[in-house]
Amino acid sequence: MSSDSYSTWINVDLDAIEKNVSILASRTGVPVMAVVKANAYGHGIIQAAGAALRGGAKWLGVARLEEALVLRASHFTCPILVMGYIPGNSFQAAAVNDISVTIWSSEQIQSLGLMTGNLGTPIKVHLKIDTGMSRLGAPGTEALSLAKQIAGTHKVLFEGIFTHYARADELDLSSAKEQQRVFIEILFGINRAGIEPPCVHAANSAGTLFLEDSRFSLIRPGISIYGLHPSQERSLPGGFRASLEWKAVLSQVKVLPAGRGVSYGHEYITQKDERIGTIPVGYADGFRRVPGNQVLVGGNLVPVVGRVCMDQVCVQLDQVPGAKAGDEVVIIGAQGDLQISAEQVADRWGTINYEVVCGLADRVPRQYFPSVD
Ligand SMILES: *Cc1c(COP(=O)(O)O)cnc(C)c1O
Repeated sequence: MSSDSYSTWINVDLDAIEKNVSILASRTGVPVMAVVKANAYGHGIIQAAGAALRGGAKWLGVARLEEALVLRASHFTCPILVMGYIPGNSFQAAAVNDISVTIWSSEQIQSLGLMTGNLGTPIKVHLKIDTGMSRLGAPGTEALSLAKQIAGTHKVLFEGIFTHYARADELDLSSAKEQQRVFIEILFGINRAGIEPPCVHAANSAGTLFLEDSRFSLIRPGISIYGLHPSQERSLPGGFRASLEWKAVLSQVKVLPAGRGVSYGHEYITQKDERIGTIPVGYADGFRRVPGNQVLVGGNLVPVVGRVCMDQVCVQLDQVPGAKAGDEVVIIGAQGDLQISAEQVADRWGTINYEVVCGLADRVPRQYFPSVD
């Protein structure tokens, strides 16, 4: 889709998100928690959450309480889990808004027990166990005593228990399988004590797709619902569709004589008469300030030349003699027979597709299809 109103914009295909979620739901038969943290990986949290629920997601997962509150303020009534840290004095806001929280320490459970004393409903907690990611969570050795403490704390509802894989997106799944083994052992111990939290979950996109018996009673896919591959080694199966395109228009096209420096520092110098275009996209939009960028113009892959500026870049257009101001530029997406994927941009930037889409700045307007107004 093009735009008459914007200099640069992002198109988000909500049908693609809906379809991707429905594939995950039907393929696994397990309830889906659609992970919409970080503004739904740059796609737009409200619209993406709506599409995910239409696709059959039962839960929404976020990293921060603020993200959950945005969803509640937009009248999403489904269960929402904050998978990350919540400062002690914000637990009250989570409880009031019926937002499930993640905890991993005895102190947290104690303060929840005190705080919820004057609330009508219990606060729903998910106990996070560190089985090998070494990032967040209780050590396995403390899992049973924490489970008992939660189960014994008035007005705290033991809704779930979970862990997170460090290496489920690799071809060699031995590390993820070891984490899974540890998690299952912990679950057995807790169940033997007569405690059975209803939601048991471990699998991100890669775990969901490549480690089938790690799905437990809830899956937590993020990257795959946007149609992006979990890693270079682990591609999505057929049927998934990328949901985001990033476009712009050429703001100016000119022919410069030989010997002209282009952009800050004149790192690029024209060798002959060269057709140089300007695009209103820069590092403040999430376009990385590194050499070697390429975009699509007139169905051709053209090089960005000179330094990337805050709001603009220059491109070399000798391959596209007909290019003129107002023509469409594709940064991520397809044009003619060619395509630039978020994965290709990530390769060029020495990072992962996750960081490319999460880094898209708020100032780049999102257009949603089908339209959601
Ligand atoms: C981000 C995140 C997910 C989703 O991971 P993907 O790799 O994007 O599928 C799941 N669980 C937790 C705890 C996360 O932080």
